[in-house]
Amino acid sequence: MIPTIRGALQRHSLQGKITLGYYAVAAIILVASLFFVGELRTLEARVMLGQRATDLFNTVLEIRRFERNFFLHQQPADLVENGRYIKLAQDMLTANRADFAAIATQARLTQLRTRLNDYQRQMAAFSAADWRQFEAAEPQVRLLGQKVVAIAEEMAGSERRQIQTTLASFRTLLLGVILSMALLIVVIGRALSQRVVRPLKEMESSVEAISANRRETLSAPSNDREILSIIAAFNHMLKELDLRQKSLMRSERMASLGTMLSGVAHELNNPLSNISTSCQILLEEVGESDVATQKLYLEQIDQQTERARSIVRSLLDFSRERAFRKEAVLLRPLVAQTVGFVRGEVSAKSVVQLSIPEDLRVLADAQRLQQVFVNLIRNAMEGLGPQGRIDISAQIVHAGEPPAGTALGEGCEAKGAMVEICVTDNGPGIAPDILPRIFDPFFTTKDVGHGMGLGLFIVYEIVDEHGGCIAVESAPGQGATFCIRLPATDAGNNKGAQ
Ligand code: ADP
Repeated sequence: MIPTIRGALQRHSLQGKITLGYYAVAAIILVASLFFVGELRTLEARVMLGQRATDLFNTVLEIRRFERNFFLHQQPADLVENGRYIKLAQDMLTANRADFAAIATQARLTQLRTRLNDYQRQMAAFSAADWRQFEAAEPQVRLLGQKVVAIAEEMAGSERRQIQTTLASFRTLLLGVILSMALLIVVIGRALSQRVVRPLKEMESSVEAISANRRETLSAPSNDREILSIIAAFNHMLKELDLRQKSLMRSERMASLGTMLSGVAHELNNPLSNISTSCQILLEEVGESDVATQKLYLEQIDQQTERARSIVRSLLDFSRERAFRKEAVLLRPLVAQTVGFVRGEVSAKSVVQLSIPEDLRVLADAQRLQQVFVNLIRNAMEGLGPQGRIDISAQIVHAGEPPAGTALGEGCEAKGAMVEICVTDNGPGIAPDILPRIFDPFFTTKDVGHGMGLGLFIVYEIVDEHGGCIAVESAPGQGATFCIRLPATDAGNNKGAQ
C-alpha cells in the first residue's frame, strides 16, 4: 500500500518522515519541471516568431533579387517572379497578422505594407509594352525596395535579439532554479537526517551508557513507532539479561556454599569442642572448684557459643539474597573467615599466608566481596600440589601506579586511593593461549561437573560493579597472581595501612 501524505504526517514514525521527505523532493521536482515546461513553451513561441520574421526577410530579398535581374537583363520572367514574391510577402503579412503584431509596432507594419504596395504598383508599371519609358523611375523603385528590405531586416534583427535575450534570461532562470532546488533538497535531506539519525545517535549513546553501567534502561529519544518498539524490545532484553545474570549469580553462590560447607563444619568444630571441653571440666569439678573458676569456664562457653553463632551468621549472610550496598569493610577478618570456609579443599600441607594490615578497610559490599574471595581462593586452591602455598596480600595504592598483571587491568577507575588485593598461588599457572579467555562466562578447563566457568566471570562483574578492576599474571608452571583494585574508604579509616 502506498502511504498517503496525510498518513505520513499523522503517524509518528521514521517511515512516515522518510516518506514525507520523498514527497517534498518529488513536489519540488514536479513544480520545477512544470515551470520549465512553461518557460520552454514561451521560448518555442519566440523562435516561431523569429522564423516568421526571417521568412519575410528572405522573401523581401527574393523580391529584390528578381528586381535586380529584371533591370539587368530586362527579362519579363524576372518581373513575373518579382510580382509573385511581392504577393507572397503581402500574404504573409495578412495571414500572420497577430504574429507580426508581436514582432513590430502597428505603425511600422502599416509602413511596411504601404511601402510594399507602392513598390508593387511601381513594379507593375514596368510590365507595359515598352518599359523604357519608365526607365527614369528605376532609381526611385530601387530606393523603395531598399526601404522595404530595411524594415524587414530590422524586424528580423529585433526578433533575433529578442530570442537571444529570452535565451539568456532562460539560462539564468534555469541556473537559479537548479541552485534553489539543490539547496532545498539539501535542507530537506538535513532535516530528514536530523529527525531520523538524531534519535538513533541518542540511542547509541544511551546503549554505551548502559554498557558502561551509567544507566539501567533506555529512554525513548523520540516517539517514532519504530524507535519505541526497539526501545521496548531492548529494555525487555535488558530485564531478561538482568534476571539471568541474577540467576547465574545465585547458582554460583549455591556452588560456593557447597564448597564452604565443609570449611564451615571444620570452623564450627573448634568452638564446639572448646564448649564441650569446658562443659566436661565443669561437670567433673562440680562442687570442687571455686566460683571464679566456674565463671571462667562459663565465660569461655559463652565466647565459643558466640563464635559459633557468628560463623553460622556469616554463612547465612552469604547465602541470603540482598541488594548491592557499599560500606567500609574491614578486610582482614573477611579474608580470614573466607579462607577458613574454603579451607576444606586445601591439602593439609598447603599454607595460606595473609599479609593484610589489621585496620585496612575497603569500600565494598561485604557479601559480594566475600564471593570474590571464595572464587579466587577456591581457584588458587584447586590446582595446588602437596607443597602448595597461597599468599593473600593487600595494600593501598594510588592512581597512576600501574596495576600488577596483564592488560586486563585496564579500565580501572583508579581515582585517588585504591586498595589492591592480590591472591598468589604456586599452582600450575595458566597457559598464555587461554589467559585472555578466563574471564569469559562458561570458560573452564575443568572436567564436566567440576567447574561451570562462571567463577572469574562473576569476580569480574562484581569488581566492575564496585568501579574497580582486575588483573592477572601467570605463566605455566609458575603459579598465578590475581590482583583486584577497589576504592579505598576515607584516608582516616586506613591510617595504619599506608
Ligand atoms: P571454573 O573454576 O568453574 O573453571 P573460573 O571462571 O573460576 O571457572 O575459571 C576459569 C578457568 O581459569 C579455570 O578453568 C582455570 O583453567 C583457570 N584458572 C582460574 N584461576 C586459576 C588459578 N589460580 N590457577 C590456574 N588456573 C586458573
